[in-house]
Amino acid sequence: MTLSKRIALVAHDARKDDLIAWAKENSQALTDHDLFATGTTGKWIQNQCGLFVTRLKSGPLGGDQQLGAMIAEGRLDMIIFFWDPMAAQPHDVDVKALLRMSVLYNIPSACNRATADFMVSSPLFSGPYE
Ligand code: PGA
Repeated sequence: MTLSKRIALVAHDARKDDLIAWAKENSQALTDHDLFATGTTGKWIQNQCGLFVTRLKSGPLGGDQQLGAMIAEGRLDMIIFFWDPMAAQPHDVDVKALLRMSVLYNIPSACNRATADFMVSSPLFSGPYE
């Protein structure tokens, strides 16, 4: 991994406020990286955090699968994925597939705020990683 990381930001509807709050708080650190997001999450982040984000399809319409493919092709370094533990999603299988790919390819993945805080404050976040 290079100094600048390719980072995916995704949140289910009930977790979007949490992710936006986290992204706002860490917008300075995030500007140094290439950000990707599923459709609705990306729109919120762009509008509310002033960060440039490459937007993919909405999660239920294939956005999670696009991120999984990016991992398989070596085009994504990290994911911050605030999924909703309290509600079933119509695209649960896509969510599971994305999480599987992240483990398979050893991609740092934060599924809650504390983990995201640990990741963003790690020297590896803006440093090289082999
Ligand atoms: P969304 O998708 O950003 O388009 O809401 C997120 C998801 O459900 O995976």
